[in-house]
Amino acid sequence: MSDSDAARYSVRDGIAVIAMNNPPVNGLGHALRTGIMDGLKKAAADPAVKAIVLAGSAKAFSGGADIREFNTPKASLPPTLHEIIAAQDASAKTIVAAIGGFAMGGGLELALGCHYRVAAPKAQLALPEVKLGILPGAGGTQRLPRVVPAAEALRMMTTGEPIPAEKARELGLVDEIAAGDLLEAALAYAQRLATEGKGPRRVRDMKPKLEGDPKAFFEAARAEVAKASRGYPAPLEIVACVEAAVTRPFDEGLKEERRRFEHLVNTTESKALRHMFFAERQTTKIPDVPEDTPTREIRKAAIVGAGTMGGGIAMSFANAGIPVTLVEMKQEALERGLATIRKNYASTVAKGRLKQEDMDKRTALIAPSLKLEDARGADIVIEAVFERMDVKQDVFRKLDATMKPGAILATNTSTLDVNAIAAVTKRPQDVIGTHFFSPANVMRLLEVVRGARTAKDVLATTLQLGRRLRKVPVVSGVCDGFIGNRMIEKYGQQSLFLLDEGASPSQVDAAAQKWGLAMGPFAMGDMAGLDIGWEIRKRRYQERPNFVYSRVGDRVCEQGRFGQKTGKGWYLYEPGSRKPLPDPAVDKIIAEYRKEIGVAPRAIGDEEIVERLVYALVNEAAYILEEGIALRASDIDMVYLTGYGFPPYRGGPMFYADTVGLPKVLASIEKFQKGYRGEVWKPAPLLVKLAREGKRFNG
Ligand code: NAD
Repeated sequence: MSDSDAARYSVRDGIAVIAMNNPPVNGLGHALRTGIMDGLKKAAADPAVKAIVLAGSAKAFSGGADIREFNTPKASLPPTLHEIIAAQDASAKTIVAAIGGFAMGGGLELALGCHYRVAAPKAQLALPEVKLGILPGAGGTQRLPRVVPAAEALRMMTTGEPIPAEKARELGLVDEIAAGDLLEAALAYAQRLATEGKGPRRVRDMKPKLEGDPKAFFEAARAEVAKASRGYPAPLEIVACVEAAVTRPFDEGLKEERRRFEHLVNTTESKALRHMFFAERQTTKIPDVPEDTPTREIRKAAIVGAGTMGGGIAMSFANAGIPVTLVEMKQEALERGLATIRKNYASTVAKGRLKQEDMDKRTALIAPSLKLEDARGADIVIEAVFERMDVKQDVFRKLDATMKPGAILATNTSTLDVNAIAAVTKRPQDVIGTHFFSPANVMRLLEVVRGARTAKDVLATTLQLGRRLRKVPVVSGVCDGFIGNRMIEKYGQQSLFLLDEGASPSQVDAAAQKWGLAMGPFAMGDMAGLDIGWEIRKRRYQERPNFVYSRVGDRVCEQGRFGQKTGKGWYLYEPGSRKPLPDPAVDKIIAEYRKEIGVAPRAIGDEEIVERLVYALVNEAAYILEEGIALRASDIDMVYLTGYGFPPYRGGPMFYADTVGLPKVLASIEKFQKGYRGEVWKPAPLLVKLAREGKRFNG
């Protein structure tokens, strides 16, 4: 794109218009930056120009930095955003921003470099840098507290949440809301300023908006932000920048902002958050499925099985506005499923997060049925019946006979072979796995399982549908457990071996949680129900006798301790409480088991606990990557970040291993090979190779 295209310059009745034109979001790439700068120069040089309007599209004033330029030399080529804003500050002619759609990040900083701001009523304004572990680095931390009260500036920048135009006007961030056409309103506003002889009103010259004692204010702010920021460094750095804005001269504040920005950009937390941002955008890119692959239209869906998963999946469709038929075998099961759906919606309404009328609209989109024929018109059907191959194959034979040609036939199986399910139909090309996570209406992860014969357009359609359902769809090849559960099995295996050797469930959980996992393995098991894992292990003892587990988990289940649902599992639960309490009865089971296997307990440090749990994930992930089950390391990271409570600031297991350094990870694994049950640690060849070559999993 030539520079003149990226920003169009024109003059109307003595007002210069610089119209940004870099779809889709007016990302501030090099061509656009050059265009804006040229426009400012032209306007300055033209004596007929009285004022300037800087405008975006109806969709976006600007979304900030152009992500297509991230990590490329173009990103820092002049003119930089800093230089543009300096030119705005230096402009002798008044500049009005016309904000349609949204102004985000660098886009809002650009708008703050303007002297006045007119916004469309639906515009949203935000400085969301904190979500990437950084801070607004083009003067945002210094300018925002000069136009809105410091407390509001802090709130916007430490949460990253957008504010609507009207709120922005009340706070002083927007001067006028456009009644009709935005550009016309901005032009009229600029004319009025010119007529009234109002020149540039530079934000840098404005007084910071803070009443009262700054010291007390920032002390309180720091305490509050520290509590909410859970160890992330950026929010506190933002507080420090705003403090500088309020207490020091503008240029010193800018320097402070720069210094703190440079520091944050280099923190692991911020690198992890940015990794996650890009990883999320990568998951739907499939090397052999071009982006322009035609997709099938999904207007109607059907679900077979209204149990735990079927109900949640139906809600996901209804939430996305897609009508869905929910098919069950028996009236009773159907009623139970519908009651759960209604209860879930009602609790969201009770919390004030959903309007009653929206609940009614959503439940109306779910059509219950006892006849599979009622699913016939659906463009996609998702099977969520019992996890048994014979049951699933039976359902797929019926679906094959019932569904219209071209319908996608999906299975929610978590462990069964999707190819074997597809094989009973006459249309294996239309069969795919859609592995939702529980609760399916809440969890963002969707593993999309590509069968050996799944058609490319079926894959492309399912990925697109995943996004429509507001999930993070990640492609997995067919294997036992797919990406996430195949890895978690090794993690579970280690968690039990740790007990054998001397750790307690609460020690393991505390170490895992302290490291950042949402929940440790034992509290997690109690929540999910220990009988599920027990069933899987019993099957494994038959299917894969050389996959060894500690039997200590079985001993707990043999006592009828299935976790929260039975009031006791690895922990004890008081009636009505989900708080895990250590239980001496469990300590006794473990101690007896140690005697049985002849292991004398030893003290195990938290560091070893975390390494054994996390490296078990990493090593299996390396196999998964090598086998092509996952397409890229960042997909594996997304699986763990969105489906398994992995802490975002660790960036996922692969990113974490890269951060530690693969030679170090490998050295630990080799050490574990010599320890208790060391035979289960076989370093993945890919890990060994990358470690030797000094490379990383994530490119
Ligand atoms: P569930 O037992 O809660 O529900 C299964 C439902 O299917 C029951 O209501 C049953 O009546 C119904 N059903 C069985 N055969 C049917 C048929 N022929 N026609 C119509 N309905 C039929 O089970 P669930 O936990 O919802 O699991 C469903 C599937 O999802 C399984 O394949 C499971 O492995 C998978 N899965 C479960 C989870 C989880 O956490 N529960 C997570 C991911 C995937």
